[in-house]
Amino acid sequence: MPRICRLLPILAFAPLLAAPPAPLTLAKVGAIDAHAHIFVDDPGIRQMLSRLDLRFVNITVVDPIERGFELLEPQHRYALEVARAAAGRAPWVSTFDPSDWESPGFSSRSIAALERTFRDGAVGVKIYKTIGMYLKSASGRYVMPDDPAFAPILEAIAAHDKTVYAHIAEPIGAWKPLDPNDPDSSYYKENPGWHMYGHPERPSKPQILAARDRMLGLHPKLRVVGCHLGSMEEDVADIAARFDRHPNFAVDTSARVTHLALQDRGKVRAFLLKYQDRVLYATDHVILPGDDVEAKRKRWEADLLRDWDYFATAGPVEYMGRSVAGLSLPEPVLRKLYRDNALRWVPGLASPQTRPLTLKP
Ligand SMILES: [Zn+2]
Repeated sequence: MPRICRLLPILAFAPLLAAPPAPLTLAKVGAIDAHAHIFVDDPGIRQMLSRLDLRFVNITVVDPIERGFELLEPQHRYALEVARAAAGRAPWVSTFDPSDWESPGFSSRSIAALERTFRDGAVGVKIYKTIGMYLKSASGRYVMPDDPAFAPILEAIAAHDKTVYAHIAEPIGAWKPLDPNDPDSSYYKENPGWHMYGHPERPSKPQILAARDRMLGLHPKLRVVGCHLGSMEEDVADIAARFDRHPNFAVDTSARVTHLALQDRGKVRAFLLKYQDRVLYATDHVILPGDDVEAKRKRWEADLLRDWDYFATAGPVEYMGRSVAGLSLPEPVLRKLYRDNALRWVPGLASPQTRPLTLKP
């Protein structure tokens, strides 16, 4: 038999023998961690960004209670330094200090300061839970996110085509007694100033979220990414209801993938499929000057890889000591969750000045 004829049966089965396409991996998706606080430039971090082909959005925030975030400066300076050293892999989000919101000229001063940060490459502006939970008027009333004091600032952010990152309210654990089974209880143990339980004089979570929703309605041209699942971590149906009402609203998953993993798998998967253009993957990892940078970087990478297993594979994956099945999201949805939604909702990420470059470790 001529050699060609012996090969024919093999060739007929060749399509069946061809290896299946390699599954998408975190390092292949060109991921963007849409919310982190990394205020240290470090070769180990830069090497990880390069190795995972990862970008992260570096967010500044004024928190009068949490260590390392008390003051606006030096955070802007740190974020700018990290952004420059990371050559496009660490775009940053600026903020303003709302503590003097009642003083004359507050909004024009804040807008001028934000415009300076835009010239330094800031791709968005963070607004924070101090609004609703901490700051009070001279007459003792808690100021809410839909207060007219903030409207000119929000309109200016929209006019500059920047995105607001809105961390408004907190997980429900803030309004409950400390409970070791609650994923957030250790935070309130460490930061009792944010533990609302036992303070009936402070606004309730529904009151704060209602004001946040009114803010979304008042500024329909403003893109708003609700941090931490928009503080609706208990039930994806709460997020879906807001998405249906407010087309200018998306959420990030920062520090709340656990809360998704502990909900009903089928419900969460259906939510992520239906609203596949509205959710940005994010971790909320924090590395501050003085920290053990390598230990924190390793934890960040471990979380990135675990979350990928949760979203991309069938699992099992462990959260809060519980073994949960992964979501096995289809590849096009994973690409949106991990990258494309961040590019759409935070358009500054796609600008030439923030395009990632190949880094030398
Ligand atoms: Zn954060």
